[in-house]
Amino acid sequence: MQTEAGAQTRGWVEYFRDLGMHDFYRRGDPVLLSASEDDGGPEAQTGASKSGVLAEDDVAAASIAPAAAVERGGYFASHSPPTIAESVFMPPPARIIPFDELAPLPAAALPAAQREDALRTIQEEIGDCTRCPLAYAGRHKIVFGDGAAAARLMFVGEGPGADEDAQGIPFVGKAGQLLNNMIGAMGLSRTQVYIANIVKCRPPNNRVPEPVEANTCSQFLLRQIDVVRPQAVVALGATAATYLLGVKQSLGSLRGRWHSCRGAKLAVTYHPAFLLRDPRQKVEAWKDLQMVMAELGLTPPARK
Ligand code: URA
Repeated sequence: MQTEAGAQTRGWVEYFRDLGMHDFYRRGDPVLLSASEDDGGPEAQTGASKSGVLAEDDVAAASIAPAAAVERGGYFASHSPPTIAESVFMPPPARIIPFDELAPLPAAALPAAQREDALRTIQEEIGDCTRCPLAYAGRHKIVFGDGAAAARLMFVGEGPGADEDAQGIPFVGKAGQLLNNMIGAMGLSRTQVYIANIVKCRPPNNRVPEPVEANTCSQFLLRQIDVVRPQAVVALGATAATYLLGVKQSLGSLRGRWHSCRGAKLAVTYHPAFLLRDPRQKVEAWKDLQMVMAELGLTPPARK
């Protein structure tokens, strides 16, 4: 016999499906991330944590996203929606999955001349995205990415802030000005690098993205990285490092050495927003950037 809670559950599921949302995933343990002092994210994560199987009447509170589908693998896992039983009762991923494990790296890099078109195709596929709750959290513009499609160097931040949300371009606010200066100090201009974020929509009040939001968006960032095929990636802050590498460690323990991500060498440094709050750490960030410059054979521009 159908219980009242069961009927309510089915009602919610049908309601969300009518809205075009097919993948349901309950809010899991807060795998991440209290905003730490070395991260760009200003707000601590507040996600409530429960464990075990999702009760029927929990569905209304469940996040809507394909994290579980992503756990099953593949770029486009989210486009083959699980059954209701699968999706509603599937636990969230037990761990953060490194980008390197989400999908095989394409054997060959795309010819440089085709990369802009390929990025455009990804952007078109994202469309007016409603795949995660950030679509309904006051977003104005989806911030896809910016810069050279065949860049040798890519920066990955956390997620758009108010300025980026208004303009649809990553790192255009105060933190963006500092990032521009950092890029300039490396002897590069912003048009020579590629810049993107872990999530493409602004989290409300600039809070740290929830795992379900980051996991959902990852499939697109991963494809951007695979198209651009940078030689080096710089993860700006703990959120970027955590999701790209699939490890939750302090920034201090991740800095100062190379990691790998999608065939690129990956360095971790402080988020520019953190450097604005604690400018003394710029010296440390500069050490990280010098490591990247050595890898790319760059020398700082002569002082005028
Ligand atoms: N902070 C980020 O992490 N990304 C942006 O695009 C802007 C600020």
